[in-house]
Amino acid sequence: MFIEVNSANRKTGWIEVVCGSMFSGKTEELIRRLRRAQIANQRVQIFKPTIDRRYSEEDIVSHNRNSIPSTPVSSAEQILLLASNVEVVGIDEAQFFDMELTTVARTLANRGIRVIVAGLDMDFRGQPFGPMPQLLAMAEFVTKVHAICQVCGSLANYSYRLTAEKGTVVLGEQETYEPRCRKCFFHGIEEEASGGESVDASKI
Ligand code: ZN
Repeated sequence: MFIEVNSANRKTGWIEVVCGSMFSGKTEELIRRLRRAQIANQRVQIFKPTIDRRYSEEDIVSHNRNSIPSTPVSSAEQILLLASNVEVVGIDEAQFFDMELTTVARTLANRGIRVIVAGLDMDFRGQPFGPMPQLLAMAEFVTKVHAICQVCGSLANYSYRLTAEKGTVVLGEQETYEPRCRKCFFHGIEEEASGGESVDASKI
């Protein structure tokens, strides 16, 4: 469990990254930290990319329907313009932002703001996703959260796409993606490449 650093007498900012696969609880963890900051009477502002319209235009909503009000923005640069008079900035679905997000996060942290970034660390191909690798390198604190592999029950850190769509950004729910462990993820990728249809865990 992440415990916030005691910054009561320090005017310094920092970057936290919460990352993992689909259904790993990233957004729940982001919301948990933001709620605690609110309880501590800190001024909190939350942003998410406008591309993520799955549930609500205005709220960050996790898969278990926990929600917290947020501001949708179409580019990372807008966060700098809109984040004013705040102590904590939360950014959800960070993988969908442009690379400018790294500069934005650094600028905010250098201003003394606590920046909490949540996002998918890898896309459905198992490749680092958007600005996440840079943010992971720049962050003071990194938390990788894990889902449960839907094939074998191990810890999962990959998002396996169940449909044949090839674009990197395909938003979806259980019917589109499932979390998988390394073994089952790459087994699935190999099966796809060889034209196979399903994965039998007992034969892995
Ligand atoms: Zn597995």
